[in-house]
Amino acid sequence: MQYKYIFGPVLSRRLGISLGVDLVAHKTCSLDCVYCECGKTTNLTLETKEYVRFSDIKKELNHFWTHNDDPDYITFSGAGEPTLNNRLGQIIEYIKDNKPHIKTAVLTNSTLFDDPAVRQALLKADLVIPSLDAVSKKAFIRINRPDKGLNITDILKGIELFAREYKGEIWLEVFILPGFNNSESDLMLLKEAIKKIDPDLVQLNTLDRPGTMSDIAPASKLELERVREILGFDNIAIIAKIDDNIKVAPKIDTKNINAAILKTISRRPCTKQDLLQLLGVDTQILEKHITMLEQEKIILGKLRERGIFYQTIKDGNS
Ligand code: SF4
Repeated sequence: MQYKYIFGPVLSRRLGISLGVDLVAHKTCSLDCVYCECGKTTNLTLETKEYVRFSDIKKELNHFWTHNDDPDYITFSGAGEPTLNNRLGQIIEYIKDNKPHIKTAVLTNSTLFDDPAVRQALLKADLVIPSLDAVSKKAFIRINRPDKGLNITDILKGIELFAREYKGEIWLEVFILPGFNNSESDLMLLKEAIKKIDPDLVQLNTLDRPGTMSDIAPASKLELERVREILGFDNIAIIAKIDDNIKVAPKIDTKNINAAILKTISRRPCTKQDLLQLLGVDTQILEKHITMLEQEKIILGKLRERGIFYQTIKDGNS
């Protein structure tokens, strides 16, 4: 069975073996972050609905469970905002009912936390990883390019409310982008907000793969250390995505390598090394397929700090 909505699993340093589930079509989100590694948001929306059918997710999960070892975590993430899918809570319940030992995690952009139905759904998860990049209206609009119905004050209230209600762990992720949200005043506002949320962990992240704009640059290690110092909490971790996702079950049929490469890089741009780890194919075979896809102008490589990242041309990423 070719999965449409589930992906991985990957071996994650913090989560163990984690199976990803995408609950919205590419690229449906309430934000259009300048750094988004999944490309430009094509459906910028606040409308919650069943973007991917609950029955389709159940079908794929049941198939995966029958043919694979159980992962440690099922993680809702992917190319868009999972809380826009109004069946999220029921999907988590379905996992709990059928596989009570598998933990669930939700990566969310936090924008819908002021909606009680969204908070209710998230309360069922074992781990919630919300993002918060900026507190000032100006920085929020510049870095996250939100749907016009959003305002940062309501979002902050929603996160605080959720943090008070929730019994699981909250790992707050802050994406640092030099020139967008790393001024001292922006960081002091973030510090105040984080103090109120009181998460179990603060994760500092920065650009690792190409974003939607070519003129943005990652924060250096030194800059991230400066941010950590200004925020000043004991529980801050600087996370590097490449170290987080290190190995995957090699289950690829060699006949479908082109399709697998395209599916993988349409979710997020990858280096050859990433693809080797994710797809578990032979280096020479991967090289051959990448060259072929490049020559046919289906994919292109962009040079970044960590190497050449491949992405599809049809997604408007050229
Ligand atoms: S980074 Fe996340 S929240 Fe931002 S546009 Fe991409 S999918 Fe949406």
